[in-house]
Amino acid sequence: MGKLYVVGIGPGSIKNMTIRAKEAIEESEIIVGYTKYIELIKPLIADKEVFSTGMKGEEERCRQALMLSKEKTVSIISTGDSGIYGMAGLILELRKEEDVEVIPGITASSAAASILGAPIMHDNCNISLSDLMTPYEIIKKRVDMSAASDFVISLYNPKSRGRQHYLRETIETIKKYRQGTTPVAVVKHALRDGQDVKLFTLDSFKDDEVDMMCIVIVGNSQSYIKDGIFITPRGYKI
Ligand code: SAH
Repeated sequence: MGKLYVVGIGPGSIKNMTIRAKEAIEESEIIVGYTKYIELIKPLIADKEVFSTGMKGEEERCRQALMLSKEKTVSIISTGDSGIYGMAGLILELRKEEDVEVIPGITASSAAASILGAPIMHDNCNISLSDLMTPYEIIKKRVDMSAASDFVISLYNPKSRGRQHYLRETIETIKKYRQGTTPVAVVKHALRDGQDVKLFTLDSFKDDEVDMMCIVIVGNSQSYIKDGIFITPRGYKI
């Protein structure tokens, strides 16, 4: 009887992986994942069988992982947390009798937040700007309502070639509800090689260098920058 671990490997450096995630990968005979993510854990999997596919092979990857796990110990990996725009949902939807265990990881918003300071200290919501599975109309509505409710907003999948204008439109929508001085951070490759941080305000925001390797965090009405550090107060009277 095999087993399937659905592993969140964290933002992309082995140091920022949980001990449980590392152990699951080490215990596995087969590793399944997107080619680029497999690269991130190369040092851990030298002796293992690897099944990797390109970006859009998600369903194939999940079916394959479930099938292989009937006989062997398998890990299917996602970056960050596998339960946040990762593989956990699809695996559990497709699962029949297979033994599946979901192992959490540090998601991109937490990784980026630790670099910036404390931007998601208060109520935060994650919105993916990818319309591959969510119609843009729904994305726009979620942006509008979360902006209106003063959530700190973490934007995953902020920009890709096919939908260049979504991010600019999102920022414009948030501006309807927040001051132009509200901090906006772009973190590229958080906690992995190539890390880069840019701080803006809603008024000065430029999306030129934003791509799919970035996460964008927009502060709430109370957020501010102090000595280059992005803070959203929790509300302590100091
Ligand atoms: N399961 C992942 C999210 C996958 S969606 C997680 O929990 O983090 C892919 C998006 O996540 C990317 O487009 C980017 O917006 C964000 N992302 C993932 N890792 C990142 C990192 N190290 N730095 C910045 N953004 C990252």
